[in-house]
Amino acid sequence: MTQPAAPPALLAQPVPAPTNIAVSDDLSFLDLTTAAGDAMRLSAGRLRGACKCAHCLRARIDGVFPQSFDGIAVTQVSPIGDYAINIAFSDGHARGIYPWAFLLGLHEAEA
Ligand SMILES: [Zn+2]
Repeated sequence: MTQPAAPPALLAQPVPAPTNIAVSDDLSFLDLTTAAGDAMRLSAGRLRGACKCAHCLRARIDGVFPQSFDGIAVTQVSPIGDYAINIAFSDGHARGIYPWAFLLGLHEAEA
């Protein structure tokens, strides 16, 4: 018996999806439970400040990206396939895509 070759997606060892994703009651935090069972909390300001969309990358290059996003809230979280979420913020910005590995990295950088 020969094993079929693993598809490239498996070779890349993607981070498994969190088992739970919720926005806190005051909308200022995103709470996640990782596939490993770890609880993770990321602030809306931290997430907004870490947005990697083309608009925000450009703003950073131009030096006009805000240093902080005090008082910002998460207004919507939408799944993107099985690898990421799209987060909409109270400043109207909703272009950011946050893959699981990126969210974990943000959390580890905060710890
Ligand atoms: Zn952005």
